[in-house]
Amino acid sequence: MPSRSVHVAVIGAGAAGLVAARELRRAGHLPVVFERAAAVGGTWVYDDGAPTDDPLGAGGTHSSLYASLRTNIPRECMGFFDFPFVAVEGAGDPRRYPGHEEVLRYLQEFARRFDLNGLVRLETEVLRVRRDDTSAASWRVSYRSTKLPDGGSEQVEDEAFDAVLVCNGHFAEPRLADITGIDGWPGKQIHSHSYRVPDPFQGQVVVIIGYHPSGMDISRDIAGVAKEVHVAIRSEPPFEMHRTTAHANLWLHSMIERAQKDGSVVFQDGSRVKADVILHCTGYKYSFPFLGDDDETIGIHVDDNRVGPLYKHVFPPHLAPQISFIGLPFKGIPFPLFQLQSNWVAGVLSGRIELPSENEMMHDVASFYLEMEARGCPKRYTHGLELTVCACTYVIDARALVIKLVSKLITTITLLINSVLRLKFEYEDWLVEKCEMENIEEWRKVINLAVRAKVSDHPESYRDQWDDDHLVTQAHHDFTKYL
Ligand code: FAD
Repeated sequence: MPSRSVHVAVIGAGAAGLVAARELRRAGHLPVVFERAAAVGGTWVYDDGAPTDDPLGAGGTHSSLYASLRTNIPRECMGFFDFPFVAVEGAGDPRRYPGHEEVLRYLQEFARRFDLNGLVRLETEVLRVRRDDTSAASWRVSYRSTKLPDGGSEQVEDEAFDAVLVCNGHFAEPRLADITGIDGWPGKQIHSHSYRVPDPFQGQVVVIIGYHPSGMDISRDIAGVAKEVHVAIRSEPPFEMHRTTAHANLWLHSMIERAQKDGSVVFQDGSRVKADVILHCTGYKYSFPFLGDDDETIGIHVDDNRVGPLYKHVFPPHLAPQISFIGLPFKGIPFPLFQLQSNWVAGVLSGRIELPSENEMMHDVASFYLEMEARGCPKRYTHGLELTVCACTYVIDARALVIKLVSKLITTITLLINSVLRLKFEYEDWLVEKCEMENIEEWRKVINLAVRAKVSDHPESYRDQWDDDHLVTQAHHDFTKYL
């Protein structure tokens, strides 16, 4: 089996960059990890100094975590396949859905356990990745290091690499909702990227846009101190506003129709409130400033949050395998997914795994885009792994029904859910097959699917009440081979 060893630049030392470095080194490559922050862990390095000067913008490189954040995935599913995220007796946060400090502890332990810290250049920001025609290696990476011995001044340097893995994360560049009339609206706006604690919202009327995990958490966080919280949720057709059962001051509405000069916010359900703050929990944009701008680009573009062209969310066909992206998909389970993608890239770079030709990959990308269009999926869902069921509402409905049944009839419906699991984990299973890795354990899939339903049905309690202990026991049984 061919086995090449290449010199690889990995951009970012979050969960994706760390596992990429490990997989590359395991495959015999020579990775160097560039990290602009002062520590490894990416998103999970909590930063309580959110900028106040630009509460809607990226405002630097701080992480998007809020103080109260607990994971929205149970720990047995969240960790890398072969490095279980288990509680350490007598230390840290042993909860099944732990706080963010525990995730950072886990990632730092992963780096220590696999001796990755020596590969990471901290406080070193990649400024530019460009083709290199002057050396045998194909890519030149320019970077600025601010961590200098003897307190010297910043330095910009560059270095040649055979390949570059982009692992820079996608939770740093806020995406905002378009609101008619917002320019004349007198209140304050912030993005969840800059939200840390509820205290500044004491006694205020707050409108929150978006009801994904962050919107759900933050609305409840703020409801504890605010006068009223109104959450605007995208829905077709609009629904009647209603109050949540757990908080007397928390209402759910359809999306915002317009904001007005008198301070009121009007919802599509016809209701209106005079609000002090609009808080956008509307997600993030992919951004790769180091890949060049329109005049001087290597041919990878972001269009309405579609990064393309990319074969299976990883390889730009015209630059494969030298350039690759880890961690773009959303709606999957991030850490194990990063591991699979990294294993694939490492295998392709060493020649163990073959890629289709550039033409075939482009054809695959084009068919995927056509399929999305035919299903009426907007471009911004390109990297959403639930896309396979995007317009197949019958599958979604069936899945919701199955999940409800799971808790009651777990043993009798296994056959029924198998087809749903296959759809939901299609991408991960495809990677497993390419990498010739062990099949993903069934309990991971079942737990994950059930959690998805619980998050929306029981946002208050899903982290502390469950009925799948038998699956957790199965997980711990499987973990013994790694512990
Ligand atoms: P990041 O963690 O963002 O790491 C990217 C790294 O790249 C950063 O350290 C950054 O400093 C560095 N970088 C960027 N640009 C450059 C450059 N030019 N040069 C050098 N370095 C650079 N996932 C879960 O599994 N469970 C959860 O419960 C969960 N909750 C979440 C809650 C919130 C609020 C958010 C925002 C995300 C959550 N996630 C969760 C998703 C989480 O982001 C991923 O799990 C994962 O941590 C992403 O890892 P990453 O390495 O792709 O990106």
